[in-house]
Amino acid sequence: MVHRMVEAMSQLQEEKARLQEELAALQERLALRDSDQQATSTQLQNQVENLKEKLISQAQEVSRLRSELGGTDLEKHRDLLMVENERLRQEMRRFEAELQELRAKPVAPCTGCEHSQESAQLRDKLSQLQLEVVENKGMLSELNLEVQQKTDRLAEVELRLKDCLAEKAQEEERLSRRLRDSHETIASLRAQSQPIKYVIKTVEVESSKTKQALSESQARNQHLQEQVAMQRQVLKEMEQQLQSSHQLTAQLRAQIAMYESELERAHGQMLEEMQSLEEDKNRAIEEAFARAQVEMKAVHENLAGVRTNLLTLQPALRTLTNDYNGLKRQVRGFPLLLQEALKSVKAEIGQAIEEVNSNNQELLRKYRRELQLRKKCHNELVRLKGNIRVIARVRPVTKEDGEGPEATNAVTFDADDDSIIHLLHKGKPVSFELDKVFSPRASQQDVFQEVQALITSCIDGFNVCIFAYGQTGAGKTYTMEGTPENPGINQRALQLLFSEVQEKASDWDYTITVSAAEIYNEVLRDLLGQEPQEKLEIRLCPDGSGQLYVPGLTEFRVQSVEDINKVFEFGHTNRTTEFTNLNEHSSRSHALLIVTVRGVDCSTGLRTTGKLNLVDLAGSERVGKSGAEGSRLREAQHINKSLSALGDVIAALRSRQGHVPFRNSKLTYLLQDSLSGDSKTLMVVQVRASAGQAGWPFVCRPWPAP
Ligand code: ADP
Ligand code: MG
Repeated sequence: MVHRMVEAMSQLQEEKARLQEELAALQERLALRDSDQQATSTQLQNQVENLKEKLISQAQEVSRLRSELGGTDLEKHRDLLMVENERLRQEMRRFEAELQELRAKPVAPCTGCEHSQESAQLRDKLSQLQLEVVENKGMLSELNLEVQQKTDRLAEVELRLKDCLAEKAQEEERLSRRLRDSHETIASLRAQSQPIKYVIKTVEVESSKTKQALSESQARNQHLQEQVAMQRQVLKEMEQQLQSSHQLTAQLRAQIAMYESELERAHGQMLEEMQSLEEDKNRAIEEAFARAQVEMKAVHENLAGVRTNLLTLQPALRTLTNDYNGLKRQVRGFPLLLQEALKSVKAEIGQAIEEVNSNNQELLRKYRRELQLRKKCHNELVRLKGNIRVIARVRPVTKEDGEGPEATNAVTFDADDDSIIHLLHKGKPVSFELDKVFSPRASQQDVFQEVQALITSCIDGFNVCIFAYGQTGAGKTYTMEGTPENPGINQRALQLLFSEVQEKASDWDYTITVSAAEIYNEVLRDLLGQEPQEKLEIRLCPDGSGQLYVPGLTEFRVQSVEDINKVFEFGHTNRTTEFTNLNEHSSRSHALLIVTVRGVDCSTGLRTTGKLNLVDLAGSERVGKSGAEGSRLREAQHINKSLSALGDVIAALRSRQGHVPFRNSKLTYLLQDSLSGDSKTLMVVQVRASAGQAGWPFVCRPWPAP
């Protein structure tokens, strides 16, 4: 029993040892399995990584291909095709227009090379067009080739993509198969003993981890599949684009075919037209030829007629030859004849020139005589008016005359006679008769009108004196100088001289100069000189002409109103700086403006000199007896003396006395040559109209004797 038990024990122990061995083996296998699974897992992971990488590279490849074939490229291509299309269309339109033109052109009869030229042009054009068509065809085939290449590449890419997908499916298949194997192994292991169950459990636990990894990798796989689907989508789109571009190309091809057919049609029409033109041309040539033959015939006939005419003309020719020989002889003698004729013509011309010259001389003589006569007539006119004339100008009553009865008008005029003036002299009514009387209403222009003739006579070489005579405030300066707005005789005279001289400028060369001087207390001063204080002397000309002159008296040449204004201003400034009370001073001095007009007759060389003396005299009021003293008295005496000397000279001249006392005053001495001889003098007597001041402004006696 014991032995059996021992045996059973040892059996059990053996069994146990065997089982333990088996367990160890199983454990070993499990460990192996474990490591195997781990290896498989890492392998799977690696594979997944690989696939990922592949997918990325695939995606890159796809994007590269896409960019290569890219939408933009396709678009560009499409744009290019469209442009090309547009160009072709335009060309087509042009051809159509040309065709229209050709059709519209009337088939004119062919009259020569014009049509052949046109047809040659058309032929050229046609060959050009054909060339263009060939070119276009080449371009189209190129484009087709390109499209074909692109399509091939796309197919290649698709193929590669398909390979990848197949590979991936295989891999999946393999993995799932291995998963199934693992499951089976696990199930078989489960069927073994308890300890093995435990081992299985641990293996299951670990296997769950593996499952998780697997599911993750499956998820990743899913993701990759999605990406692949996306890529497919993109591929599809690209295919669509390619298809549309194919369609476009087909359309373009159809259009080109259409254009070609149109072109062919046009070509056919053109050929037909050319044919008809050629026929026309041939017809026209035939007609022309027939016409030419007819004409030729007529010409031949004419020629025969001409021949017969020629035969009859021969005798005439002979006579003509004779005539010609005669003429030849005459021509030989012609130079001699010509010389003679020239000689006689020259003589005639010389005679005519002489006659013209003498006529000219005669005319010049007559002209001079006429000039002289005109001068004489003018002189006579002035003389008839009187070489010494006296006119009066009445100053209107102004505010300066004050108010009341003193300021009333005390001067009256004769309504029928403008040479009579009535006024109150020392309270008694007195009347005077003068050459002319100007009422207060007379304007500066009215007064100037009266003296105008005198001034122009100065251009003819006469000396002229115009005096303004009268009491202070009677309007002497107003009449001579005037105001800037309403100038007096001085400025108007110079203006007149300028315009007259201008008018005669074609025949005469005139120069006008002015001097300004004053005589104060019997001393002569230059108003335009640099030293107005300097005393000037009056001397006889050293040339023995008996003329007087003032050495050192400044003379300015004037050519315009601006020049005169400058001269007047200069004189005025000189006077103002010299004398503090100019008004008072000027009423006690004589102011002279001496204008000299020198002229040369351009045709005769005749010279003339005329002098115009414009004198604003000192006030003629009587001061001598009112008890003035010192310098005032001296001034008054000088004024009285010089004015009465002037009165004496004028009286002597008027009564044509043998002796004229020029030397009694500086003024008369200075103006001697302008007062004597043919000279003309005008005295403007200024009169105040107001009752308080009115009166004949004479110093000693009524002058000139009325
Ligand atoms: P005189 O030179 O004789 O002393 P003015 O010429 O200076 O006198 O004249 C005295 C004033 O009378 C001036 O204010 C002047 O403008 C004015 N006068 C002179 N004559 C006329 C006239 N015809 N019309 C208007 N005003 C005049
Ligand atoms: Mg004055």
